[in-house]
Amino acid sequence: MASLNVLILVCLGYVVFLFGVAFASDRLAATGRIRWLRSPLIYTLSLSIYCTAWTFYGAVGYAARSGLEFVTIYLGPTLVMIGWWWGLRKLVRVGRSQRVTSIADLISSRFGKSNVLAICVTVLAVLAVTPYIALQLQSITLSFSIFADGDPDGFYREGSSAFWVAAGLAVFAILFGTRNLDANERHHGVVTAIAIEAVVKLLALLAVGVFVVWGIGGGVEPILQRIDQSEIGTWTIDKGRWATITFLAAAAFVCLPRMFQVMVVENDDERHLRMAAWAFPLYLLLMSLFVVPIAVVGLDLMPEGSNPDLFVLTIPLAQGEGGLAMLAFLGGFSSATSMVIVAAMALSTMVSNHIVMPIWLYSQGGGASVSGDVRNIVLFSRRISIAVIMALGYFYFVFTGGGALASIGLIAFAGIAQILPALVGGLFWRGATRTGALVGLTIGFVLWLYTLLLPGIGSGLLSESVMTNGLFGWHWLRPDALFGVTGLDPTVHSVMWSLSLNTVAFCFVSLLSFPSPLERLQGAQFVNVFDHSAGPRGWTGSVAQSEDLMIMSQRILGAREAQEFFHAEALQQGGRGVLPDPTPAFLERLERELGGSVGAAAAHAMIGQIVGGSSVSVQDLLAVADESAQLMEYSSQLEAKSSELSRTAHKLREANEKLTQISLQKDAFLSQVSHELRTPMTSIRAFSEILRDTDGLLPEDKTRYATIIHDEALRLTRLLDDLLDLSVLESGQVSLNLRDGRLDAVLDRALDSALAGSTRKLLVKRQKSTERIALRSDLDRLGQVFINLISNAQKYCDARDPVLTISVHDVGGQVVVDFIDNGSGIPTQAQSMVFEKFARVSSEKAGGAGLGLAICREIMQRLGGNVTYLTGQSGAAFRVSLSTNQEMAAE
Ligand code: ADP
Repeated sequence: MASLNVLILVCLGYVVFLFGVAFASDRLAATGRIRWLRSPLIYTLSLSIYCTAWTFYGAVGYAARSGLEFVTIYLGPTLVMIGWWWGLRKLVRVGRSQRVTSIADLISSRFGKSNVLAICVTVLAVLAVTPYIALQLQSITLSFSIFADGDPDGFYREGSSAFWVAAGLAVFAILFGTRNLDANERHHGVVTAIAIEAVVKLLALLAVGVFVVWGIGGGVEPILQRIDQSEIGTWTIDKGRWATITFLAAAAFVCLPRMFQVMVVENDDERHLRMAAWAFPLYLLLMSLFVVPIAVVGLDLMPEGSNPDLFVLTIPLAQGEGGLAMLAFLGGFSSATSMVIVAAMALSTMVSNHIVMPIWLYSQGGGASVSGDVRNIVLFSRRISIAVIMALGYFYFVFTGGGALASIGLIAFAGIAQILPALVGGLFWRGATRTGALVGLTIGFVLWLYTLLLPGIGSGLLSESVMTNGLFGWHWLRPDALFGVTGLDPTVHSVMWSLSLNTVAFCFVSLLSFPSPLERLQGAQFVNVFDHSAGPRGWTGSVAQSEDLMIMSQRILGAREAQEFFHAEALQQGGRGVLPDPTPAFLERLERELGGSVGAAAAHAMIGQIVGGSSVSVQDLLAVADESAQLMEYSSQLEAKSSELSRTAHKLREANEKLTQISLQKDAFLSQVSHELRTPMTSIRAFSEILRDTDGLLPEDKTRYATIIHDEALRLTRLLDDLLDLSVLESGQVSLNLRDGRLDAVLDRALDSALAGSTRKLLVKRQKSTERIALRSDLDRLGQVFINLISNAQKYCDARDPVLTISVHDVGGQVVVDFIDNGSGIPTQAQSMVFEKFARVSSEKAGGAGLGLAICREIMQRLGGNVTYLTGQSGAAFRVSLSTNQEMAAE
């Protein structure tokens, strides 16, 4: 018989070996060479954590106590794997596309990221899994005690063993599960170690089975005969229990946190489910193959009263097969440890993410930014959570004092199954709401607690009177006969009420309540996950992925920068080519690099699209939308700025054109002026030279020449006066001398000065009665305009008997004075330009410089009115419009 010391040494050696495997796998995963780590075989084997110590030891005990009912525990998962394969695929796809970290995260995510719901699921899961962990403690303690019994010299002490086992498992789980923080919550090392444990436990059970059948029983035939003769062969099937437990096992297979962890969170490729769909039922078949023979032989061989839960261990020991017993022990140890590690890991993630971290962040003022410290806090809180969870398991074990492994397991199953309605409803029914899920879960949870967990813990928690008379003395509230339904198996009774009321409440409240926008969005993402997410693309780091990443990065970072970055990464990886392997570390750095340009969320989503095969989650979309809203805001600001700039540029262009035009006008004006000056100057010079140099000029010639010189000098003076006047008016420096006066008086004066001394007779027609209008204006300037118009008529009217008609009207509330003569007028094409400087229509017969009308226009503009040419008259016609504030009132 193997001594206890050897056993402990073997145990430690085994643990160290598992550590080595986990460590090596993590190292491989970090360098990206993990193709074999991500094989469907490893995935299938990792699912075997479903088979815990309960299955390893307990199934035989279950068979010995209740006959073939133990099959239900294998039947449930088998039915799910084969019959609900598509449902699992959807679950895995949702898990990946939403990057969920636990089942609590999934439920919360589906119902609008509700943390209340996450806390509910977490609490439920912790409470439901606690008995399960106790079960593992119990099995390991029991198996130790078996070895200790045969080794009286050992230092084994019954009482404290459970505590040390719990402590050891806690350390084990902490060391395995929380060595580092992985963004995707993937633990390649742990999964590989679990796969190895799966092989060990299967081999151990098969070895014991083969030994029992051929070593003890004498072959298949005699064993079958023994089975027929034993009670197990004749056991009747309780249909209600069978259906209930099969269903429970199926539900637990999907909802157990540790199953969710390996099946969804650790899943690398949903195509792995294809192999698991047939290989996992096969694994279960092999695990269950020898259960009945071992039970039957155990019942025959072992002394009355020995614990059937330990037949797997005690039969080889009784037969003196120390080595086989050791293997069996390792098998049981593997079953228990793998379950505890993954369960503790999954639960601690939930507890830390949904309970500890929110509290910590809140205590930090709500907005702690993610830094290196936070990672340590997360790891710390996970470790503490593991310790607390293990302590709960230990206390449960101490409180209940253990029991049949199978019955403890069923309590856990029934608890965890309460998540099923919310999970399935969330996956397939868009109408499911957060309130519905919350109410359903709470009702199911309370009923399970009241009808199964508390009575299961035994005396102490539920008083005897509650058990027999019901809560508050109400008979219909008895834990084992709710609503007066009696005669049912406790498990069937509890599951029936808790799950059915849970489901009914979930559906009913969902129909009544209204989902928030985020819930509706998430609902669509979950229910139609196959429309929203990319198809299965393995995590296998292919060159193609690196190429895609390169192409994308070039677009974002610029070709040269991207190439340099990739090259540096490839060098760092010690690779040969230009392209690095898409390892997590590289992807993380690339994401940061891209994040600098396009924002973290967009970078994450883009890399996820290429590498992860996961689709963009709603969070991503919201974050991207946020960023693009910022970008749009920014670009619209830029747009506004640029349109402002272009408006300014347009204005500048216009100003420039104006300046050019003015400069051209100035040139033209100067040349005009010099031309106008030169003509009189030339004649003055010529005649003055004649006067000076010619002797003997006749007196009348002298007079004639002197007159010409005088006239030309006058003309020059007039021209200079006009030019000066115009420049003063144009520069705007003219000051107006506003006075009160009357229109007829102004006209009188103008006529006098315009016609004074003229030889040519001009007949002026007026209607004095209309001219009696009071004015407030610069009367001299106004008179100047009138004089110019009158003298123009006198100068240019080509009628034989020139007549000028001056009439005053009221046009649209404005006083106008029309000057119309009876000449041939101004040709149409010249009408628009007579107001320009130096514009002359007729040849220079009257000697004007063409500045008069230009001055009139300037004056009238200063006075607030205007002067225009009046078309449609027989002769030349000008209209002077006075501004409204010039007239005072018509008399
Ligand atoms: P100026 O100062 O040389 O008289 P204006 O600017 O007053 O020049 O007039 C410009 C031109 O308009 C004149 O050269 C003349 O040909 C034409 N014009 C002005 N008034 C009349 C009119 N009443 N009848 C015919 N032509 C006119």
